Amino acid sequence: MLAMVLSLALVIYTRFSSDLQSNKSCKDQEREVREALTRMGIDHSKAIVIYDEAESGTKVFRDDFKRLQAMMESGQIGILAVDDQSRLSRADNTFAFITDLVYMGGRFIATGEGIDTEQTGWELRVKVMELHNSTTIRELGRRVRRGQLGRILGQLSAGDYCYGYESYLLNPEKAAESRGPKPERGLRIKESEAKWVRKIFEWFNKGRSISWIAEELNRQNAPRGHRRRSNRWRPRHVRKILENEKYIIKWRWGTTRTIRNSQGKKKQIPVPEELQVVVERPELRIIEDDVWDAAQKGLADLKELYGKKPGQKHRGPKVHHTAIYPNGLLAGMVFCSKCGSRMWQQASGKRLYLGCHNRGADDYCCELTTRVPVEKAEEAVLEFLAKLLTSWPEWLDEALAAMRQQIEEVTQRVPEEVAHDERRLRDVESQVANLVDALAEGRVQSQAVRDRLDEAEREAKRLRKKIEDARKLLSAPVEMPDDKWIQQQLDGLASVIREGGYEASLLLRKIVGRIEADQVIPPGKSRGYARLRFRVLAWEALKAILSSADSGDALDALLANCVNDESSEEFVIDLGGPTLMDHWAPKIAEMRAEGTKWTEIVEITGLDLNRAYRAWKRFVDAQQTGDDPGDDSPSESDDEQSDGSADSDEAA
Ligand SMILES: [Zn+2]
Repeated sequence: MLAMVLSLALVIYTRFSSDLQSNKSCKDQEREVREALTRMGIDHSKAIVIYDEAESGTKVFRDDFKRLQAMMESGQIGILAVDDQSRLSRADNTFAFITDLVYMGGRFIATGEGIDTEQTGWELRVKVMELHNSTTIRELGRRVRRGQLGRILGQLSAGDYCYGYESYLLNPEKAAESRGPKPERGLRIKESEAKWVRKIFEWFNKGRSISWIAEELNRQNAPRGHRRRSNRWRPRHVRKILENEKYIIKWRWGTTRTIRNSQGKKKQIPVPEELQVVVERPELRIIEDDVWDAAQKGLADLKELYGKKPGQKHRGPKVHHTAIYPNGLLAGMVFCSKCGSRMWQQASGKRLYLGCHNRGADDYCCELTTRVPVEKAEEAVLEFLAKLLTSWPEWLDEALAAMRQQIEEVTQRVPEEVAHDERRLRDVESQVANLVDALAEGRVQSQAVRDRLDEAEREAKRLRKKIEDARKLLSAPVEMPDDKWIQQQLDGLASVIREGGYEASLLLRKIVGRIEADQVIPPGKSRGYARLRFRVLAWEALKAILSSADSGDALDALLANCVNDESSEEFVIDLGGPTLMDHWAPKIAEMRAEGTKWTEIVEITGLDLNRAYRAWKRFVDAQQTGDDPGDDSPSESDDEQSDGSADSDEAA
């Protein structure tokens, strides 16, 4: 057998494809296959290596693969080795190819996937991998894209064109007569729209603002193009046109691609620039390069001034998605108290648990081994909170007093602030007037002046809004609801919480925010019960009830100005408790130490002898392995020593 294999060829087949999940170069593939063969004890010094580097679909292809197939069919192959079975995907049916190879006396090894036809059960593995490789929608998407790419390379319309262009039939006569394949279409400039594109660039380069341009287009009734949803021009439409490279003949293809999750839900993700295709189409030029460059500079300046800067992406704290779309009452709120990670929901039989995903067998893993039963935890937390809110606890009272005081302070501050803002607004308005005059008279024409103007107008707008809000507040003085009303609202919150639905889960996220899960494990046992710890954010609870008060908007505005992180003491909820045996174990140990007889212990505890003994044994064993016998060694001399060293420091 061995001799026969050696007399046949060992072939290492490699194929490069950027579309495969693993786009290793042929050289890398060869090296890895050789390393694996060495580990398997197979001599590969005389291997025939096939480098199949033709790119899929576009160039001459299949020559190398045909060679492989020919070798296989004539029974020349002893071993065929690849790094990944999908390298063979040019065989329309990989499984059939490999079966034939084995039939002809060959052996197939996919080193990266651990497939070897000398091992029993290889058929299933090959079949599974084939299914995996052939049914991924990724592969389907690739084929669709390839087809569209072919069309765009042929300078034809790929179905999607923008403002300033139109598609037309290449062969109107032919299209009219035949009902055959989709008639071919071309793309050309649509002058009635292209002239507006040129105007937009011209206006922008002359220093008109994007919003001014949008208004002007509306005023002059410029057509909105074939993809319009409404007839109104908006600033973002203008901006899109100013950023569109197609007007300088760069038609980019494949800037995004669609991926799907296991449920088939789609999303668009960006494609790296080197994988995008840019086709230059000189006949479609609408904007000259120098005009384009000037506009790009203008856009860059605007971005510099007002755009999102790096590190400025998220305003405010990052919000976990479950805080906005909770899909379980406690989902996303429970954290592991040992390692701090958010706990994940796991199903076990019919029950749901929250467990620490860092939990594991070895020492580096998280030690939180107890899982939180979801249903039990939900019930316990809701019941606890409902009772808590109706009981009007002291910390809530304190928070309420603090809030009343702050509201008072803010209310007193408002008139002063309004006066200040009004002074500032007058300054800014006269600044705007001066700048407008200067621009109108043509005294200045710099971008910097226009930017200043934009900025000043923005500030004026912000101040006007702020003053308006403050006046509203002053005209309708806010009255804090009385205690009775608040108690009613708290009762209302409690019943919302008891109902446990979507509302409750939102409320819970607001007023509790974070729950820590811990565990209690009785001595000598490996399993225990879960313990939850959390605080109630009193301020948030108050906001939740006050925002439903009659004073409405004004109170909301005030509350937005108040900050406080007043919260309750820590609450602890145990989900379970010690068993009877756990409960009695330390007491039994005590009684045994005092010489109490087992018969008496059985009587006192109510446990039968067997269980009483086991409880005692487990407890005592745990004490022995857990306690360090050196614990009570004396350590009085420490104090004297430190006194002495302090003296010597003073002397030096
Ligand atoms: Zn953990």
